[in-house]
Amino acid sequence: MEGGSPAFGYFMRFCSLRSGSSGNAAYIGYKDVHILVDAGLSGSTIEKSLLNIDVDPHDIAAILITHEHNDHIKGAGILSRRYDIPIYANEATWVSMEGLIGEIEPHNKRFFKTGEDFTLGDVKIRPFKKSHDASEPVGFSFFCGQNKATIATDLGYISRGVAANIMDSDVVLLESNHDVDMLINGTYPWPLKKRILSPHGHLSNKDAAEAIKKFIKLKAVGKIYLGHLSQNNNKPEIAYKTVIDALREEGIDYEINMALRYEESDIVEI
Ligand SMILES: [Zn+2]
Ligand SMILES: [Zn+2]
Repeated sequence: MEGGSPAFGYFMRFCSLRSGSSGNAAYIGYKDVHILVDAGLSGSTIEKSLLNIDVDPHDIAAILITHEHNDHIKGAGILSRRYDIPIYANEATWVSMEGLIGEIEPHNKRFFKTGEDFTLGDVKIRPFKKSHDASEPVGFSFFCGQNKATIATDLGYISRGVAANIMDSDVVLLESNHDVDMLINGTYPWPLKKRILSPHGHLSNKDAAEAIKKFIKLKAVGKIYLGHLSQNNNKPEIAYKTVIDALREEGIDYEINMALRYEESDIVEI
């Protein structure tokens, strides 16, 4: 994929390849740097998805891992071995996922520290702390030229720290995991319901709606994607409606986009 026309500056490109409890992967590109955030599907699904948006898997410079749950790491080892791609994670996540992703070449085992920025080419990456039931889960903000994109899914609540990282993002992928009534009345065993609802679980549609309302009122956010929807306790139209209705109650008319389970989102170029 071309990196934009230098005459007009370079584009930052963002695409949610797949999002949901069945597997997550997102793409961020800037100039000649192509980054995969999580690889929670089969290697071949991610390959096909990248090709669908005209990115050659050979060109992926890094796979960044948010946390060690299977829906975020399933294909990471496969892709790393197949295309010689470095995997970046914090130390606690490496400890937890090492036995799950197979043998990784030592030169492809890379570390970052939560809260410390690092760079890949001209992309600055900020891994930030979030609350979720994993070893040391992070969200990521990406700074590309004047633009910023943030991925914040798999979080029990929006802490001040998470909110600060979402602020002023041109693109945000925010979790809208479940409808609370569907979850409570659904078939999951109570301990699992409790885990999902806990501060270490997942963000509900209502939580997402409240947060989005605040960010929009502060004029602190650009394009918004709702993602990581639960298969059993949510539906895209319910998540969408919950957020749109909450905004309309306040007289806010705003475009809300969906990051879906089985298809790529549109590609944002800014
Ligand atoms: Zn997840
Ligand atoms: Zn998770």
